[in-house]
Amino acid sequence: MVALQQLNRCEKIEVRVGDVLIGAKNPVVIQSMTNTPTKDVKATTSQIIDLYNAGSEIVRITVNDLDAAKAVPAIIENLDKKGLKIPLVGCFHYNGHTLLSEVPECAKLLAKYRINPGNVGFKNKRDKNFEQIIECAIKYDKPIRIGVNWGSLDQDLVADLMDKNAQLKTPKSADFIMRKAMVESALMSAKKAEEIGINRNKIILSAKLSKVQDLVSVYRELSKKCNYPLHLGLTEAGIGIKGMVATTTALSILLQEGIGDTIRASLTPMIGEPRTMEVKLCQEILQSLEIKHFTPQISSCPGCGRTSSTYFQQLAQDIQMHIDKNMAHWKDTYKKVESLKIAVMGCIVNGPGESKHADIGISLPGDGENPVAVVYEDGEKTHTLRGDNITLEFIKLIDSYIDKTCQKI
Ligand code: SF4
Repeated sequence: MVALQQLNRCEKIEVRVGDVLIGAKNPVVIQSMTNTPTKDVKATTSQIIDLYNAGSEIVRITVNDLDAAKAVPAIIENLDKKGLKIPLVGCFHYNGHTLLSEVPECAKLLAKYRINPGNVGFKNKRDKNFEQIIECAIKYDKPIRIGVNWGSLDQDLVADLMDKNAQLKTPKSADFIMRKAMVESALMSAKKAEEIGINRNKIILSAKLSKVQDLVSVYRELSKKCNYPLHLGLTEAGIGIKGMVATTTALSILLQEGIGDTIRASLTPMIGEPRTMEVKLCQEILQSLEIKHFTPQISSCPGCGRTSSTYFQQLAQDIQMHIDKNMAHWKDTYKKVESLKIAVMGCIVNGPGESKHADIGISLPGDGENPVAVVYEDGEKTHTLRGDNITLEFIKLIDSYIDKTCQKI
């Protein structure tokens, strides 16, 4: 299946966004979006840095009014002062043509413009506004994302397709027409942009919907009909576990088929939850699919009646915290440390087997078992831990395993 992922990706056009390459054979790129008012330069800069540090390779900011457009140069100057070259994408709706013309510094400094063909303008103004944005992208040599969204789909196009459908002997369902309109809107807009004069290698497409099956169907169709890189994301995914599961389901199906060159998780953050959660989710999806590795992965069992204490849950949690705390340092010190597999298992039933399959694993004693924790490295039993310091001793063994097996940078 990895071969299929690569095959689909290598047929794609390559688009450069700042220093990041999207499409063709390039690895899937993670992106995210701020939720601070862009005109608040300090808060927006700070959130961009948080998202970038969490692993977002590109960050999108809304450019919704003159204040926001004028804030873009100040935000980029702040990032420059910190030595950060983070590609920023401006998200434009309704007034992008005006803002890009009135604030040329904003147009010049953004790494990409996101345009929504459903709300670039209305009626007879639509084509003119769209043209103005594309001309601006050509002038400043910027790529664009033509981002169709189910919630703001071009209603004239939908009405036209519905009328044609109604005249058919056997009309298709309204859902089918909606999905067709999403694909057509993206493709027609890309064609129009090329006719205005933008190069093909400056176009990325997206067609986001909020229902998993609709999204899968639309992206499969888009990927058959064009070779522009595709920005993948389930829009309005929702809050908490619902949003995470829906996003993971949709993105995983498509990524497994090699569809999607850059991804974003559009989660509604829980109150107090960091915005970086959307980046973390994208990383977990790519890591679970073994498309990209970011951090050592822990396999731990769910526990059952054989583990009456929370000891092994605590151990799994402590190991995860140890990884999170040390990952930045490890990444700068060791090659491929992110591919490491660690097992933390609750009892003898699956403990030794899973631990042997990991690079390093520990099998704790379940209820009624001999109170020893056996450690395996590369499939071999290497240590037997007992007593009150098992967590600390296992952490030391992980550190030493990394030091002896991962090549130093
Ligand atoms: S490994 Fe042991 S403790 Fe963990 S779920 Fe399986 S039987 Fe239960």
